[in-house]
Amino acid sequence: MKFYQVFLRNVRECYTWHSSEPIPVGTRVSVKFRNKKRIGIVISPVLETPTFKTQPILESFSEWGILASYIQFAQKLAPSYFTSVGKFLSLMIPEEFLEQKDPVQKDVWYEKNCTNEIKPRGNKQKLVLELFTESKELSEPTVLEKASKSVLQNMVAKGFLKQSIDGVSVPSLETYFGENFSLNSAQQRVFDDIQSSSKPTVLWGVTGSGKTEIYKKLAEQTAGQTLFLLPEIALTPQLIGQFQALFGAQVAVWHSKLSRREKIQTWARLQTGEVKVLIGTRSSVLIPLPNLSLIILDEEHEWTFKNEFAPRYWTHDLAEHLAQQQKAQLVFGSATPRTESLEKCQAGVWHLTKLFQTVHKTTEPKFRLVDLKQEQKKGNYSPLSESLAASIRSAITRGEQVVLFLNKRGYAGASMCKSCGAYFECPDCSQNMKFHTNGHCSKLICHICGYLQSFPSNCPHCQAKDFLFRGWGTQQVEQAVLEQIPEAKVLRADADSVRGKHDFKHIWQAFKNKQANVLIGTQMIAKGLDFESVTLVGLILADVGLSLPDFRAQERVFQLLNQVSGRAGRRKQAGTIVLQTFHPDESVFQFLIKNEYENFYQQELEHRKKFALPPFTAFAKITISDQKKAVGLERAKHCQTLLQSELETKSPDGIFNIHMAPAFFPRSHNQYHFHIFVQGQNEAVLRDFLQTQAALSSLKVDINPSSLL
Ligand SMILES: [Zn+2]
Ligand SMILES: [Zn+2]
Ligand SMILES: [Zn+2]
Repeated sequence: MKFYQVFLRNVRECYTWHSSEPIPVGTRVSVKFRNKKRIGIVISPVLETPTFKTQPILESFSEWGILASYIQFAQKLAPSYFTSVGKFLSLMIPEEFLEQKDPVQKDVWYEKNCTNEIKPRGNKQKLVLELFTESKELSEPTVLEKASKSVLQNMVAKGFLKQSIDGVSVPSLETYFGENFSLNSAQQRVFDDIQSSSKPTVLWGVTGSGKTEIYKKLAEQTAGQTLFLLPEIALTPQLIGQFQALFGAQVAVWHSKLSRREKIQTWARLQTGEVKVLIGTRSSVLIPLPNLSLIILDEEHEWTFKNEFAPRYWTHDLAEHLAQQQKAQLVFGSATPRTESLEKCQAGVWHLTKLFQTVHKTTEPKFRLVDLKQEQKKGNYSPLSESLAASIRSAITRGEQVVLFLNKRGYAGASMCKSCGAYFECPDCSQNMKFHTNGHCSKLICHICGYLQSFPSNCPHCQAKDFLFRGWGTQQVEQAVLEQIPEAKVLRADADSVRGKHDFKHIWQAFKNKQANVLIGTQMIAKGLDFESVTLVGLILADVGLSLPDFRAQERVFQLLNQVSGRAGRRKQAGTIVLQTFHPDESVFQFLIKNEYENFYQQELEHRKKFALPPFTAFAKITISDQKKAVGLERAKHCQTLLQSELETKSPDGIFNIHMAPAFFPRSHNQYHFHIFVQGQNEAVLRDFLQTQAALSSLKVDINPSSLL
């Protein structure tokens, strides 16, 4: 008798069942659990005969299990991420495979059975048989145009038709070009450098240097499957198209907005190995690939590579584990890498390769700094400085296009009653709600929880009718452009105007077709847009985010502004970037306008080292939330005391300090939040220390959080 631990979805523990036959790890099996038949996955053999009575495994399925190497991957990761193996496993396989024996839709074909004498009964059967006079074999959808499924089943039962079931159905593809492309000499040098490195490689390539060409070449040359990780799929229609042009139906896409059926079919096609390139967001790093040989993580500096729910992983870390385990090549790409990635290169853990030469020899875009303090002294409170407004006008006159960037949606940051000074706060988050308007209808929206109410005509406190709006949002920029530049045709892309992936595609297409000459947007326009006739980029308020109390604030602003600036003059014409700020002396802006990338990171690394900040140390963020402020505080203090005493009694190496404080956003979603920060030498030390703390079992523990806020 053999014994196995079996994972069942939504069951935290893995229990033991027995079988007379050996079953490989990763196999799907059916078992009885609490009197219900369930489908689970064998995660490990149990070598010692259990002392308790076990139940038998009822059936084992040869198809659609989880690869054994990924089960090991989950087992290795789970303890470090304060979660169960099952949590990781449930992210590796669509849930339908744990509910149904075979949820995969397969290609069904019909063929006329020529060995039998056929006496069709009824009109429907005759119609079906007529179909087979021209083709020997027909797919099910074709035949279903003439008759229902039950008619077909009947004909198969009678022996009139033969049915055959092929591989997994492949979705039809719109475009396939099979294009040819080649690398220029700078790209070739970088390609060779990546190929010859045995370490994970950071490809630091400026906007317009053609990183995508290198990725395509790498994917083409690698022996097995490529996992191409992107921060966001909906915003990068161009890139997917490029890979489809090269690999056709061998490209699959994976992201959270796929339908359940799409997920099942895609997952199945990945398991059969017929897909050569999987393009996906962070969740696809956990999709088992039987033949993985290359992982590319593009725009590696993006926050969306951090999973903010349990398991709270950085996609980079999982990709690195995976690459090591599967002996796959690993490439991180960015125009503005994370400071911690560059530090790993400096330390020799990763390899760095630079591509600072653009494909089209453009003169570098010219920056113009506008001091908004001076502007307001002149009495101009509009989001458009005189200089920016003039540049927009002349760009439009020349038939060129303009991108205006402001990383704040809505109309204004805060609205205040002019007579009593009252603000509008979200009842659940105690934060100022933002004023949104489309001209005729005005609302207040909480940007934390989405709470929405119509804008009152009178102040609820003093009944006054006059309000003051502070801070700019994209809607106000739109209004300013329309008022001050009547010849402008404007499109706006932000979370209010873009609801789904199609909305964004429409805006993108409309701007590309020059139905508008000004595109206003939040960070969603920062990525992957490549418009030849954009010659002017306006950074409406470059300061946004700079004053946040987070050690990554400078880096983030630099990355974002750099990315947006890259939209200007990408091909023939040199572009202009107008950077508006209240702090023109800020070093981030100085590095940005002088194109001094390396100097920026040099300063950033020195600063981090001097103040013992990551990547030279590491933080863990523990979050305690409660509806009652006093209860939350009490629990946070209690937890801090436990950790503190543990620190004093055991004095583990490399844990520096433990610090508790109310969260930067102290209240949201009707909960008060408190943070405990534990700082240590590195992530491993923090994990070792915190893994053993029972007090943390029900709390949010985030090692190397993406933000300290
Ligand atoms: Zn009032
Ligand atoms: Zn709220
Ligand atoms: Zn600093």
